[in-house]
Amino acid sequence: MTDATLSGNARSSLVRFDIGHSEYEALIEPDNAFWSLVHKSSAAELRSDPELLGKLEQSRSVFSDEIEHLRFGLTPSAVYFNPTERCNLNCTYCYLPEQMRRHGDQMSKEQLVEALSELLEFFHRTMPEDAKPQLIFHGSEPMLNRANVFAAIEQFENDFIFGIQTNGTLLDSEAIEFITSRGISLGLSLDGPSPEITDLTRHTFSGHGIHARVLNAMDKLRGYQNYSVITTVTTENLDHLTEMVELFHSFEVPTCMLNQVRCTLPGARAVRPDDIAFSTAYLQALERTSVLYKESGRKIVVANFANIILAVVAPTARRLMCDISPCGGGRCFFAVTAKGDLFPCSEFIGLPDFNGGNLFKGGLDACFDTEAFRSVTERRIEEISECALCPVRHFCGAPCPAEAHQLNGHMQSKGAFCEFYKEQVRYVMRLIADGKENDFLWDGWDEGLPTVFEMVKE
Ligand code: SF4
Ligand code: SF4
Repeated sequence: MTDATLSGNARSSLVRFDIGHSEYEALIEPDNAFWSLVHKSSAAELRSDPELLGKLEQSRSVFSDEIEHLRFGLTPSAVYFNPTERCNLNCTYCYLPEQMRRHGDQMSKEQLVEALSELLEFFHRTMPEDAKPQLIFHGSEPMLNRANVFAAIEQFENDFIFGIQTNGTLLDSEAIEFITSRGISLGLSLDGPSPEITDLTRHTFSGHGIHARVLNAMDKLRGYQNYSVITTVTTENLDHLTEMVELFHSFEVPTCMLNQVRCTLPGARAVRPDDIAFSTAYLQALERTSVLYKESGRKIVVANFANIILAVVAPTARRLMCDISPCGGGRCFFAVTAKGDLFPCSEFIGLPDFNGGNLFKGGLDACFDTEAFRSVTERRIEEISECALCPVRHFCGAPCPAEAHQLNGHMQSKGAFCEFYKEQVRYVMRLIADGKENDFLWDGWDEGLPTVFEMVKE
């Protein structure tokens, strides 16, 4: 290991950031997410080292342009599409109102075709000719409208890159064959390593468990690479995250997520885990994924953590857009409900004030200029007083605006898991200091990516 390893983006002053490593600390240029790892004994000196500062100065415009483009230069290329308001489950923390999930609307085949045609026409006008938009059937539970969803996928097969996010309880062999034979990306949800834990947050309206049904689907999906399973972390499963990744690994799940529950609606706040306890359990689970990889040669990538690593080592290679300010809601993607209502993100669907118009009433182009959308797309971390000077602000982004709004009555505040984000960044930097970060990333994640800045000083 050399005394200093430098990589990233640069501009004015460097801030010292303790990463909890025995030998190294970080120097971070918060404005543009430049960082360097330096030996603790030389950190003070390197902070004003003329060679380092001179090299940063030369590359400054490249770094600034990169972060500026990521934050303000992207346009929508994906849509989260709810083909039904109904769900067969009644999860504790769902962001959709219960009345909607029990008795809501369902799109007919004609409405689905009309909606997808409208969206396609929009993306044709706004995206480069050789790019395909992504359309993710989302919930409520899209498989409750399976016949129409599958018919729409067949009709628009060449027009969209399709994904399906489902609770996994309605996936029979025929549905799995339809999805896997077309390479459709699939997301399932499971909250516990055992029925007892899963049942605490995910169950039917009559209280019946669904654990076995999801495991059955996971079993059928063995070998399929384009799928993931989401665990929503709550007080109910906090002590079982390590068992979760062990279970996923044993089922050959290629990618999982250990997502903090979004505290947007009151049901979710009732199971909000403590920030510090969450960080501890999460890091233990991550460590376990690394051991499992070493033992078996097979990775289980925790995608939400991998995204934080990418935010640090290759900001433009991020795959998820919650951890940047403004977040991706309303600017990289948007959400369409079963009534055709337009929201910046699915997380806002239960909040009528953030309805930006209706797809069936010609509202698509106009929605991006509505107050509902602009309040999200113009939420800049520099204007959140608690975050404006935070050294890790461009690795965190102060998510989530929906959560912050409902927790604090306005969006110019941070969300529920500030300390969790800081701890993730510290851990990422410790992994980089020890040369271990690739154990947590997809193989080949950096293929074709240029190195923007690298400097090693002995
Ligand atoms: S931070 Fe919240 S509103 Fe933004 S993309 Fe993520 S879930 Fe959606
Ligand atoms: S939420 Fe916390 S970690 Fe994130 S930018 Fe704000 S102060 Fe920093």
